Amino acid sequence: MNIHEYQAKELFRSYGVPVPEGHLASTAQQGREAAQEFGGTVVVKAQIHAGGRGKAGGVKVAATADQAEELAAGMLGRALVTHQTGPEGRIVRKVLVEKAQRIAREIYVSITLDRAKGCPVIMASPDGGMDIEEVAAKTPERILRQSVDPLYGLADFEARRIAAFLGFSGKSMHACARLLKNLFQIYQDKDASLAEINPLVVTEDGTLLALDAKLNFEDNALYRHSDIMELEDPAEEDSLEKQAKEHGLNYIRLEGNIGVMVNGAGLAMATMDLIKQAGGDPANFLDVGGGAGAEKIAAGFRIILSDPHVKAILINIFGGILRCDLLAEGVVKAARDTGVGVPIIIRLQGTNAEEGRRILAESGLRFTVAEHLSDAARLVAEVSEQ
Ligand code: GDP
Ligand code: MN
Repeated sequence: MNIHEYQAKELFRSYGVPVPEGHLASTAQQGREAAQEFGGTVVVKAQIHAGGRGKAGGVKVAATADQAEELAAGMLGRALVTHQTGPEGRIVRKVLVEKAQRIAREIYVSITLDRAKGCPVIMASPDGGMDIEEVAAKTPERILRQSVDPLYGLADFEARRIAAFLGFSGKSMHACARLLKNLFQIYQDKDASLAEINPLVVTEDGTLLALDAKLNFEDNALYRHSDIMELEDPAEEDSLEKQAKEHGLNYIRLEGNIGVMVNGAGLAMATMDLIKQAGGDPANFLDVGGGAGAEKIAAGFRIILSDPHVKAILINIFGGILRCDLLAEGVVKAARDTGVGVPIIIRLQGTNAEEGRRILAESGLRFTVAEHLSDAARLVAEVSEQ
């Protein structure tokens, strides 16, 4: 789960990670009032669940309250398109108005899970503010990776080592080390999957401040963090993923054009690999699960059909607990209700597969039944290109 910058900054503040003073505004008038309260120059920042706002006009400096109001009015209610949002962008519903800072330098810091090592890793670079991917590609020696033992937490010497790499010494090194330890505490306490500050700045008077704040949380651990769950912004969720969640379906939207419905996460992964290998591109991941009934199947199928990018569908079911005849009924029902404009390729094996194929054949709807999975993948990749 993702949260907004202003929410992440509130958490930062409560953990002793320093952030600029700021006020949230959902109207231009509130934007003006916030700017008036701060007095001098402010920064108006669009609050959406995506980065890259700076380059896209979602972070702007206002010298006066009039200007702040104008900037807020220009952002609120409009879609902001950044390289992370996709072409349709995200509607800006709130802006964060912060007291502007005089920046001496910009640093990058993040904490995430190193899956290969099985422990958290802190990444830090003195080259913050820009795309960290670019730093990693061109000057990898400018990024320090510090693994952290999850049982001990971030040790003082590790935190100081990172701070020294970032160019701090003396008092400022201790301030930076403390900030890193506090950030690590948030990551650990809240089961975050990512904690990122880009940029972490040193102001001209030598203060350390998190100018940006990004926190992602592990969905599977949310049940033990009701405070984090409350931060969820339904307006930012993908509406198809939201619908899927309501039906208890494991659905993730992807970029391709082949809708995929499979039972079992492992089989779904294998199916997507085969589609890729055949030159196709999946539009989603969907595991309907073992015990799905006709209703759930229908819901899953409707969700795939309502994705406008989908040009072909592959249904791959191995009937174990889920019977193939039930699946066929669900698919036929959903196809009748929704109307299908794209080719559907089905591969059924296992419990009541014969019966399932008969239901499909007698439905009068056009399905292509494939015997083998590799044939099915090749077929769907072919028709998706037409
Ligand atoms: P992002 O582009 O979505 O990651 O948004 P950020 O919060 O990182 O802001 C983008 C850039 O705006 C930062 O890298 C800073 O260079 C700049 N910026 C943000 N706040 C201030 C500020 O208070 N003063 C100045 N001078 N620049 C700022
Ligand atoms: Mn940033």
